Order: sequence, then structure tokens, then C-alpha cells
Amino acid sequence: MITPDDLTRISLFAQIPAGERRTIADHAADVVLNEDEWLLLEGQGAAFYGLLEGRIEVYKWLGRRNQCIAAYEPGEYFGEVPLLLGAPAIASLRAASKSRVMRLEPQEFLELVTKCHVLSGEISKTMMARVSRVRQWTIDSPPAMATVTGRELDVECYKLREFLMLNRIPFTWNDSGGEAASGPPVVELADGRTLVGPSLRDLARALELEVDPKLDSYDVVIVGGGPAGLAAAVYGASEGLCTLLLERFACGGQAGVSSRIENYLGFPAGLTGDELSARAYQQAGRLGAELLTARSVEAIEPAVAAGEPHTVVLDGGTRLSSRTVILATGVNWRRLDVPGIERLAGHGVYYGAARSEAMRFNGKRVHLVGGGNSAGQAAMYFASYASSVTLLVRGAKLADSMSQYLIDQLHTKSNVTIEMEACVVGVEGTDALEAIEVECGSSARRERRPSDGLFVFIGATPETGWLPPAVIRDQWDYLCTGRDVMDLLRERATDAWPLERDPYLFETSVPGVLAAGDVRHGSVKRVSAAVGEGSMAIAVTHQYLAELQASMPAAGGV
Ligand SMILES: Cc1cc2nc3c(=O)[nH]c(=O)nc-3n(C[C@H](O)[C@H](O)[C@H](O)COP(=O)(O)OP(=O)(O)OC[C@H]3O[C@@H](n4cnc5c(N)ncnc54)[C@H](O)[C@@H]3O)c2cc1C
Repeated sequence: MITPDDLTRISLFAQIPAGERRTIADHAADVVLNEDEWLLLEGQGAAFYGLLEGRIEVYKWLGRRNQCIAAYEPGEYFGEVPLLLGAPAIASLRAASKSRVMRLEPQEFLELVTKCHVLSGEISKTMMARVSRVRQWTIDSPPAMATVTGRELDVECYKLREFLMLNRIPFTWNDSGGEAASGPPVVELADGRTLVGPSLRDLARALELEVDPKLDSYDVVIVGGGPAGLAAAVYGASEGLCTLLLERFACGGQAGVSSRIENYLGFPAGLTGDELSARAYQQAGRLGAELLTARSVEAIEPAVAAGEPHTVVLDGGTRLSSRTVILATGVNWRRLDVPGIERLAGHGVYYGAARSEAMRFNGKRVHLVGGGNSAGQAAMYFASYASSVTLLVRGAKLADSMSQYLIDQLHTKSNVTIEMEACVVGVEGTDALEAIEVECGSSARRERRPSDGLFVFIGATPETGWLPPAVIRDQWDYLCTGRDVMDLLRERATDAWPLERDPYLFETSVPGVLAAGDVRHGSVKRVSAAVGEGSMAIAVTHQYLAELQASMPAAGGV
């Protein structure tokens, strides 16, 4: 319990009358922290604190790293900046040694500031000093962690830009124009190192992203870092499982490229895919999951005998063993079947949102193919850069494929045109896209349209060909789980399922190998559904591990 005497140790309260100290003490919480325990996390609801004993360090996410930027000693107070701005916590607070802190809830703090002029003046002065310190951190931290130099239309450069953007690495782009005509892209890092034509993994390693597993064996290996995989990582790690997540490109998956997710519960103003991925990534890491980026899983070798672990083979040949595997590999954009289009991929033709490219289309003509929400969101995003955005939709009615809120938003943009019953049937361009040919209306008349960028959103397919045949799929390559496994096996007249029990919910046709999210047969293809499936897959993982444990011969017998 905080006493008025305790409060005299905090400089701010030493100067106020004893009666007021008593009132504050009556409303304060007495928070005792062990070494390394977090008092507050960046983004949480703020509160006001005074440090009585120990030492509190201030951590802030700058670029991709959570850096210690300051520390408080006994007698200091903090938390007033976000409270007075009505914002969430702008940094995290962690006990560097065993500490004791007094905490006032926002309402108590605001009352204090309103009623006591002495405190109010003092707190305002401190706040001004701290705001200018935050400004200085921002100025001092390098605006870019990398500079990419290369030819604008080089596919390798595009890949590097997209990789950096989706991994939230601040970077600058330097178009070498015609000069370095055939050279590979060059990446200069903020610390002066230069990488010539780096692979994504080399670049990730140079930027200190985790790329190598720390252990040889895990309780659960999650393949794919979209919403399903990240949710599984959060739940797996928080429930004490030794958890590894492997993501081949950037955590966030499809959701990471979404410019605004409006229908995710708890975010009334919507949130960007980038925010969702960053938060989930930080959350999973903080809870103890190992998260590797730029690592692809190339094969799964199912356990040879009941109770044995599965083997997971990574790119480069690294082999890991894991008692369970969760496949959360999502889906990839379907390719547009038009002659010559693959030659222009990355040279004006893109699959998916390619947010890193939006600025390059400033003042240019952009065409988007597809009538789903992803195409609608991308049209909204490009509308802020391009001079004209044309959405080409094959169907006759947009409401059949797109949510009404997006249709309404698109109608407010004067530079967005929606064309129904329109199909792209041709592309033109030597080094880069110059024009598209569109087949319009029921008469199927063909028109040539000059175009600087064509973005394709025509549905997606799962990429599951790398999995062993024992993991059965439906006719579209989605992974069958639970009851669907038995139904499909019956249909195919095989009895490949090896156990007496039926597969658990989310369990594939290989015991202990689960699937969650968009890659699963019958999945709903929504962020919230993927998150739900990822977290439920962990519940099933526990069930499977308990079964394994129960089937082990009892140790220590005579
Ligand atoms: C532009 C866009 C906007 C969207 N907007 C919304 C919206 O507003 N609301 C909504 O509810 N839904 C939306 N969706 C759908 C939603 O994003 C998906 O349903 C959701 O992301 C599916 O999550 P997932 O984890 O199953 O798969 P994904 O998000 O596809 O993630 C799978 C991940 O696995 C990785 N991976 C694949 N294979 C391997 C491998 N072999 N090794 C390692 N990693 C691998 C991929 O790189 C990817 O990161 C949108 C989708 C898009 C594309």
C-alpha cells in the first residue's frame, strides 16, 4: 500500500501539502516488479507512475528494434505525456531491477492536474522537456536503415523494395537510371556496409532479422506468418510450447498488404494490415515465440512411427524436428492468362497490392483487375497517388463480390472509374507495360488503353505442391482437415488414416500435422477466421501432445 510518506520520495509530490498527499496515496496502486518484468507496453492504455525503488528502463520500437532509449531512477515520475495528449503509451517500461512503482489511473491523474495548480505547472514543464526529447530521438534515429540502388523496372529491385516495406524496414530508393544498365541491385545499410545483389536471406541477416533457428527440435513448428500463423505463434508461446514460426517473405501474409481492414473486431476505425502484422509480430515475439523471416519450408517428412517427431526441411537444407506442425501457408494470387504477360511481371504488371510501388505511380494511369475487396482496397490506396485508377471487373454487379462499404468509398473518389463486364485480353510493352487491351461489355468489343501499371487481383490458389502426398488435398489443392479427411479418403476408397480415432479438428491426414487459415479446405478467407483457426490449432496441438504423452510407456518400471 502506498503511504503519504512514500510519496515524499517522489520529487513532484514532496512540495504539496500533506492532505493532498494522503488523497493521492489513497488512490494509488502499489506495483512491485521483478527484474525484467514489463510495467507497460507501447500502445497500451497509459497511466501515471512514480518510481519509489529500483530502476525502470524505457523501450521504444525504432525501425524493427525495441531499443532502450532512457531510464528512470527513484524519485522520478512518468506517463504524463500520453495521458495529456489522450494517446496510448508511446514507449514500453521495463524494470531493470526489482522495483516499486506507484500508479495512478488516468481519471485520478487528470483530476489531480485539474485541481492542483502547483502539480499542473510542474507536470506541464516536464512534459514540454520530454516532448522535445522524443523529437530529438526521431531526428537522431536514421530515417532509413537501407538505401536500394538499381534500375526501376528490375524485378530484383522490386522484390527488395517489397521485402523491406513489408518487413517495416525504413528504406530509400535510388533509381540508377540507365547508368548501371546491367548491374545487380546494391543495398547500402545505415552502418556503411554494402551488399551487392543480396538474396533476401542475406539482406534479412544483415538487418539483424532472425533467420536461423536457435534449436534443433520444437514442440510446434508453424509454417507461414500470416494472421493464422501469427495467432498460432501467440497462443503456442503463451501456453508454454516451444514454438518456431517460419515465414518465407514477411510476417503479415496477405493481411500485411491490406491497406485498411475495416471488419476486424475491436478496431472501430479499421486498421492497416501493416499495423495488424506489426502488433501481432511484436506480441508473438514478446511471448517467447521464435519468428524467422526469409526462410521457406521446402519439405515435411512425416514421423516414421507413432510418437516420433516430424522433420521439417528448410531452404538451404536445414533440418528440424518437431512434435507437431501447423501449416498456415495461405494462398497466392492467381495468374492472369494473357499472352506475353509474364514477361512484363514486375515491369508494370503486378500480382496483389504491391504497396511499395504506389508512390512510383504518382500522376500515372493505373488499371486494377478484379472485383473483390482486395481490388477495392487497392483502388482506394492508389487513388491517392495515380492520376486515374480504373477497376476492371468481369462480372455484371460489383455488389456480388465487394463489400458495400468499399463500393461506397470508391464512389467518393473522383479519379476512380469502375468498369463492369470488362476483361483484360492483351498487354503491350517492350521494356515495360505501355498499354492493355480490354474486352468490354456483352458485345465483347476490344479497346486499347494506354496504361502505366496493371495490378491483378483475380482470386487465389493455395501452393501446396511441396507437401508429401500423405497430406491429402481437395481438387483445388486446399488441405483437408478433420472430418473432411475421412470423407475424402472414403470417396477415394483408401484407408490411409493410420489411427483408430478420427482426425481432430484442423488435423490433416498426417497425425500431428495441422492446417489453419486460407490454405485449409472450407476456410472462410477472412483475417478474423484465420486468427481464430490459428489459435484453435494450438488447442488441438495440446490435445495431440497429451495423446502422445499418454501413449508413451511409463518410465522407471522394473
Ligand atoms: C489486399 C487484401 C485485402 C484483404 N482485406 C481483408 C479485409 O479487409 N478483411 C478480411 O477479413 N480479410 C481481408 N483479406 C483476406 C485476409 O487477408 C486473409 O484471409 C488472411 O490473411 C489469411 O491468413 P492466412 O494466415 O491463412 O494466410 P496468408 O495471409 O496468406 O499468410 C500465409 C503466409 O505463409 C507464407 N508462406 C507460404 N508458404 C510458405 C512456406 N513454404 N514457407 C514459409 N512461409 C510460407 C506466405 O509468405 C504468407 O506470409 C484481404 C486479403 C488481401 C490480399
